[in-house]
Amino acid sequence: MNIEKEQQAIKWLQLFEPKAEEEPYYLAYSGGKDSDAILILAELAGVRYEAVHNHTTVDAPETVYYVRSKPNVRINYPALSMWRLIVKKLMPPTRISRYCCEEIKEHGGEGRRVVTGVRRAESVRRRESVGLAKILGKPKTTQQKAEELGAEYRVTKQGGLILNNDNTETRELVEHCVMRSKVMINPIYDWTDEDVWEFLGHYGCKSNPLYECGFKRIGCIGCPMVSKHRYLEFARYPKYKENYIRAFDRMLQHRRELGKPAKDWETGIDVFRWWMEEDFRQVTFDDLRGE
Ligand code: SF4
Repeated sequence: MNIEKEQQAIKWLQLFEPKAEEEPYYLAYSGGKDSDAILILAELAGVRYEAVHNHTTVDAPETVYYVRSKPNVRINYPALSMWRLIVKKLMPPTRISRYCCEEIKEHGGEGRRVVTGVRRAESVRRRESVGLAKILGKPKTTQQKAEELGAEYRVTKQGGLILNNDNTETRELVEHCVMRSKVMINPIYDWTDEDVWEFLGHYGCKSNPLYECGFKRIGCIGCPMVSKHRYLEFARYPKYKENYIRAFDRMLQHRRELGKPAKDWETGIDVFRWWMEEDFRQVTFDDLRGE
């Protein structure tokens, strides 16, 4: 196990811990191995935290049961299920329009220090946009403050500020921004998969049982971000596929009621095939957005 990284992560959690008069850390718990790691680290660091899981309504049953087995994790249920959200938004979630993330998965923790299990090793995109701390919201004023303090930072394409140092300037910037913006602390941002598994193994945590079934990633069933992997998911969970098709049927019905027919789409199955990238001749994404 990489003791140095473990000690460093504990130090960071202690360094940025909210003051006694502030709300405790908001620990974003997904039910995957990285969030298990931050949960254990928060205990080891002895910091105050509130662990919250956003139930997405399209989590695998194994994940739902696993999260429920965690006594110190609060489960937050969304106002609308994924199925209702699809009807309301009049289109399926896609790689370009991931409205469901905002509405059902990533909300919560506003104005608080959020601890995440986000790691750079997860994707090329994340290598660019992940650091020890990330500040979201009010980019110009935050940037101005960073300049004043002399903090080392870089700006992401989405306008977030990334900080990689745990020096006084970084700390001050986090203190300054926390009430105005969402401040994410990523204590395992530089951990590899092996680091995480060795750490969990050392503390006797096997994590979500889906890993033992060959899953590499724990997330929503049918997430458009995982593209072809969805075939495996729908083979394992055929009810979810049926639910998506039913939601697409209701979405089409709602479009017709609003006078927004969807050209070549007649049934939920047509939408499903487009969504699974099986049929490119039908409606384009721009067709839907341009209305
Ligand atoms: S399906 Fe994908 S894009 Fe939608 S909430 Fe889940 S992870 Fe986010």
